[in-house]
Amino acid sequence: MCSHGHFGLRKDSSFSNHIFYWKCSNKKCSKKVSIRNGSCFQGHNLSLEKILFITYFWIYKIDQEFVKHELSICNQTIVDWYSYCREVCIKILKIDSEKIGGDSVIVEIDESKFGKRKYHKGRQVEGQWVFGGIERDSKKSVFATVENRTKETLLKLIKDNIKPGTTIISDCWKAYDCLGSEGFEHLKVNHSVNFVDPETGAHTNTTESTWRALKKSLPKYGTVKSLYDTYFSQYYQRHIYTEIGNCNSGQRNQIKNTRHTRL
Ligand SMILES: [Zn+2]
Repeated sequence: MCSHGHFGLRKDSSFSNHIFYWKCSNKKCSKKVSIRNGSCFQGHNLSLEKILFITYFWIYKIDQEFVKHELSICNQTIVDWYSYCREVCIKILKIDSEKIGGDSVIVEIDESKFGKRKYHKGRQVEGQWVFGGIERDSKKSVFATVENRTKETLLKLIKDNIKPGTTIISDCWKAYDCLGSEGFEHLKVNHSVNFVDPETGAHTNTTESTWRALKKSLPKYGTVKSLYDTYFSQYYQRHIYTEIGNCNSGQRNQIKNTRHTRL
């Protein structure tokens, strides 16, 4: 439909700035509409070929300097498109969001401080606490930045994101002591003594290895506190697509069905 409300658009022969147009078939109107309108390509003047290349390079974390050179594009274009990719990741996560866990499902939870670094002359950058929960088998997960690690903050996050009846494994942080009386099965691992509880076999190896991978995935310089949620969603979408690229169709469907992440 054209912007004047006429039905019946046909492809127009004109082509400018890499964009094809629809033309209103109402003779008195003949209004042209970009075929990109209403899609994620709306408002961008790059060729579709370049857009697909940039997106592909973004998934594989290719350095921006290299991409700029290979595709002959300017700095602003690549910065904008990489940032657009991150926004899309956040949108996908919000659409995909669902609680993790369930009866007899094991979810490991943990908190970790990100981005705390010491520079020369003792200057220190304040880090960001992040809460994470991962289903041990499916790897469905939840990551969220938190202002503090109090019982109120963490319990709300857990209740909002993890189904009752879930077996939650955590470290001995005192805020988690209430979980047993809040509808969860709760197992603790005392990391100062051992990493696998000798009696229950409980461990949080899955979250530990994910923390490492997440921290590695952050930008090396200039991480911005307010962007942590973006970094995490980016990490997961890339993870999904690079894994999908490396496996057969059956495995692909399994990954798509199981890897929901929410913030
Ligand atoms: Zn029209």
